[in-house]
Amino acid sequence: MERRKFLRNSTVVGAGLIATPMLASTSNAEKELETGKKGGPSKDILPMVICTWDFKNASAKAWDVLKDGGTALDAVEQGVKVEEADVDNQTVGVGGRPDRDGNVTLDACIMDKDGNCGAVLAMQNIAHPISVARKVMEETPHVMLAGKGAEQFAYEMGFEKTDLLTEKSKQDWIEWKKTSQYKPVINIENHDTIGMLAIDINGDISGACTTSGMGYKMAGRVGDSPIIGAGLFVDNEVGGATATGVGEEVVKTVGSFLIVELMRQGKSPQEACEEGVKRIIAKNKDKQDFQIGFIAVNKKGETGGYCIHPGFSYRTYSENGHVNNPSDSYLDT
Ligand code: ASP
Repeated sequence: MERRKFLRNSTVVGAGLIATPMLASTSNAEKELETGKKGGPSKDILPMVICTWDFKNASAKAWDVLKDGGTALDAVEQGVKVEEADVDNQTVGVGGRPDRDGNVTLDACIMDKDGNCGAVLAMQNIAHPISVARKVMEETPHVMLAGKGAEQFAYEMGFEKTDLLTEKSKQDWIEWKKTSQYKPVINIENHDTIGMLAIDINGDISGACTTSGMGYKMAGRVGDSPIIGAGLFVDNEVGGATATGVGEEVVKTVGSFLIVELMRQGKSPQEACEEGVKRIIAKNKDKQDFQIGFIAVNKKGETGGYCIHPGFSYRTYSENGHVNNPSDSYLDT
């Protein structure tokens, strides 16, 4: 009974979409709704997608997949690939900032409605780590492949070798080497992962997370982004969460898993994200000069986001529109 009602509602939502001008706006950025509205999609509005930061081309791509009845898994993969391919984005995929030795090493993971997951860590020379992570999930008995092994597997799966270091990122690195100071900048410059969660018309949730990691990191450093439970977690009974910011701190609290479990215990996505940030703050009482941003969605399509310092935002796209949501923060500055 409940299931039938849900499917009927989904169909109505889908039909409504086709009739509204909003659908046309999916390929027309000028027509998107005003930015700055908080809260994201309201209850029971599916399908929907949410992603970290103002990655509006990525959320629009994911929405294109979802509105055509595609799966949440396809939506998150296709969505984050937009940022992996953007050479001007120096924090994800091609054009990402290198490690301190000048090598671009990429991290990504993906998780589906059945709890299956795949990840690649510190992988070089492959433009779309999220798609390799999906192959790890679907084609191997493993969850994670790292470094040369991940790259070798990618070639076996038909991925092409790609030079990930753009001239701009190379010049920035050469400039950085003059001082060699490793200091993550809050919100921008040397980090900004895309984490994305989607719910499809069947109500199923998937998530993806991909990054070039902290700029000028030590060779071999891996952050939270490809670690299931830290940078991303999905439980199709409850919801999903994903993170951006200084990965070491997210790993220490297994942040995304924590947020999903808090939602299981009854917290809203917003309350769960706030608690996730507070756990990190509690472990860093004397050192708060770093950024963490969490986003979450529950099974109803309710969303939340929270961060340490102002400046973080997250995109939502649903029947309610395509919105950049400025996140509330623990600190004022
Ligand atoms: N979480 C990423 C990492 O630690 C970086 C980021 O999101 O800014 O590698």
